[in-house]
Amino acid sequence: MTQFASENGELLVGGIPLTRLAARVGRTPFYAYDRGLLTRRIAELRAALPAAIQLHYAMKANPMPALVGHMARLVDGIDVASAGELSVALDAGVAPHDISFAGPGKRDAELMQAVAAGILVNVESFREIAPLAAASAVLGVPARVAVRVNPDFELKSSGMKMGGGPKQFGVDAEQVPELLGEIGRAGLAFEGFHLFAGSQNLKTDAIVEAQRKCFELAVRLAESAPAPVKFLNLGGGFGIPYFPGEQALDLAPIGENLATLVGDAARELPQAALVIELGRYLVGEAGLYVCRVVDKKVSRGHTYLVTDGGLHHHLSASGNFGQVIRKNYPVAIGNRMGTVTGEPVSVVGPLCTPLDLLADRMPLPEAEPGDLVVIHQSGAYGASASPQAFLGHPAVTEVLI
Ligand SMILES: *Cc1c(COP(=O)(O)O)cnc(C)c1O
Repeated sequence: MTQFASENGELLVGGIPLTRLAARVGRTPFYAYDRGLLTRRIAELRAALPAAIQLHYAMKANPMPALVGHMARLVDGIDVASAGELSVALDAGVAPHDISFAGPGKRDAELMQAVAAGILVNVESFREIAPLAAASAVLGVPARVAVRVNPDFELKSSGMKMGGGPKQFGVDAEQVPELLGEIGRAGLAFEGFHLFAGSQNLKTDAIVEAQRKCFELAVRLAESAPAPVKFLNLGGGFGIPYFPGEQALDLAPIGENLATLVGDAARELPQAALVIELGRYLVGEAGLYVCRVVDKKVSRGHTYLVTDGGLHHHLSASGNFGQVIRKNYPVAIGNRMGTVTGEPVSVVGPLCTPLDLLADRMPLPEAEPGDLVVIHQSGAYGASASPQAFLGHPAVTEVLI
């Protein structure tokens, strides 16, 4: 389950042996992201999808500015979820035309910033119309808007559902015609629809079905739109394998389905570009979390490797970021690759809580203080999705290799 090679017992990151990299970084713990793997992932995805599909990066998965800068050169647009992310995207040189902004509870000041920047705002509440109209009037430019729709169906088998039923995201499909009327009367520049049904889905069939249903819903809603649809964002939700038994997503049927939808769109929404937006899938497998064993303790026969890293840097690997049942992320001893594994050990962090668990009863090569513990599949929802202030340990370093 790893795309990182190893040589002479050392994991390689961008060709650099891990202990050498740790010396270069100068401290542990750190996250390392591999540009070559990011580039390769996007190339493979592009090869599997029709050329007409626009690919956006949802930067909440990993907002490290250098990484966003790398991604910005490879994708067609960046999706932001706050004014803070917006400024990172603008600093990375992304054209405002190619930035869109989604999220519930957008504050008036954020909407003003978005209109001033000239980006596309995904409207997800009737309340957003008035501040958008006010910003348009003050700035003398009509706000560019799309409508985020809460669909009338759910994404099956999604790790995290974000559409269908009652949700804080988007506007319920049945209320969208009324919202479109208000957008027209307020003089906002309507440009399309955004549908995002959920996250971390490994079932190709479910993704194909959701994309087809989202497309059909958008075609129906377009009848009430004040202007032609220029962008139809079909969401994403592509998952990556984390746990034993999970398989990488099969892209071929998704590519075929999208090719059909591109054809249908040419007839039914002739001015629309089809967009998919992905976070985790683009960056998750290209990142590692690296921490150092500080202590090795045996308690009543069970071995604990105590590291300088933990849930304060990597909440999701500890199982506390949305997982229902805790499972081990793929963990390795990065300077003892290829060594036979010994008795199962637990890898824990320095926090005074039993939740600070990075690997529970996992067979690993025999490790000692000073060794480097590596957590794979850590490029998404890592540093920025963790409670770094908890217990007052130093913040984590991030490097792009
Ligand atoms: C979180 C989010 C994404 C990214 O989801 P991934 O599962 O990381 O691909 C995309 N779009 C929206 C609207 C989101 O909120």
